[in-house]
Amino acid sequence: MSRTKPPQHFADLSRDARRGWIQELGLPAFRANQISTHYFQHHNDDPDTWSDFPANARELVKEKVLPRLLTPVRSITCDGGKTRKDLWRLHDGVLVESVLMRYSDRATVCISSQAGCGMNCPFCATGQAGLTRNLTAGEITAQVVAAARACESGEIAGGPIRLSNVVFMGMGEPLANYNAVLQSIRNITTAVPDGLGIGARSVTLSTVGIVSGIEKLIEESIPVTLAVSLHTPDDELRDTLVPINERWKVSEVLAAADKYAEKTGRRYSIEYALIRDINDQAWRADLLGRLLKNRNAHVNLIPLNPTPGSKWTASRKEDERTFVRTLENYGVPVTVRDTRGREIDGACGQLAAAETLIPTRTDN
Ligand code: SAH
Repeated sequence: MSRTKPPQHFADLSRDARRGWIQELGLPAFRANQISTHYFQHHNDDPDTWSDFPANARELVKEKVLPRLLTPVRSITCDGGKTRKDLWRLHDGVLVESVLMRYSDRATVCISSQAGCGMNCPFCATGQAGLTRNLTAGEITAQVVAAARACESGEIAGGPIRLSNVVFMGMGEPLANYNAVLQSIRNITTAVPDGLGIGARSVTLSTVGIVSGIEKLIEESIPVTLAVSLHTPDDELRDTLVPINERWKVSEVLAAADKYAEKTGRRYSIEYALIRDINDQAWRADLLGRLLKNRNAHVNLIPLNPTPGSKWTASRKEDERTFVRTLENYGVPVTVRDTRGREIDGACGQLAAAETLIPTRTDN
């Protein structure tokens, strides 16, 4: 098993650092702008096809500046070709996944920020195998670039479309890999050609509720949409469903999210996986309604996607309806998430689950 660090990539660095690095490599600084245009604006990482770039510098860029970070292992599609899960191998053999979902008017990619996850939520498949390692900014960004390219090229059913949304809801806890995630958010949201030019509002960062990370994010002034995986309004149950709750309680997480909403002017989301007879009782809906009624929050109910071997399952439809109605009675905006990608294990918490049954690393 190779434990070498991933090779440094253009997308790991800030705009200024990229220019410095390009000069260190013996190229004029303006070549950094050309590389940015090809990579972030045109989603083209193959210097051999760059006709405006000197032929004798292409090899250097290919090897040193844009080394291949993701190797496709396989893609599986469902929903009539409108949902596609991609499995990627990283340079050290570690596997991660991303999921592309096409809707009539937009296309969303769900990306991974870590290989595995250390947060240990018992209902989530990714959590069961623990954390393998953090991804680099380059590895996170490359998932988005690959998705943007797939959208434009018309590989996804429904014809070419622009990638419009990015959600950090794949494998990993983004705020546990803060610096790399932040640089990738900069790459995604910075205007072309220095970034992909996707609006911050169209990027959603989902967290278990790492309060120190939410507070740091407030200081960055990048108004990405924040999603908090609450899953229950009471600390007693949340200590078991989202174990980081032993460190930061429900009230502290909501206070941090409120501060985030105030600073960014953005409504946040509360993620709530409905688990039959565990967190779906009417009294919990009532408690959640009371907790959120005066907050700038929207509830996203997710029918639990059962993980292999788990005794938990999704709520009964009537309990789901009662839950929705109770929240609505409090004036809390609520939606039930669709179940895109279920049949390809592309749904919440399921990414790479099938692969964890076989070794997730290969020697190289
Ligand atoms: N670590 C981040 C991102 C993870 S996945 C976080 O926890 O927010 C995005 C969402 O999917 C989270 O709300 C997570 O709790 C939820 N999720 C995980 N496993 C699930 C499952 N089996 N069924 C439904 N939702 C699940």
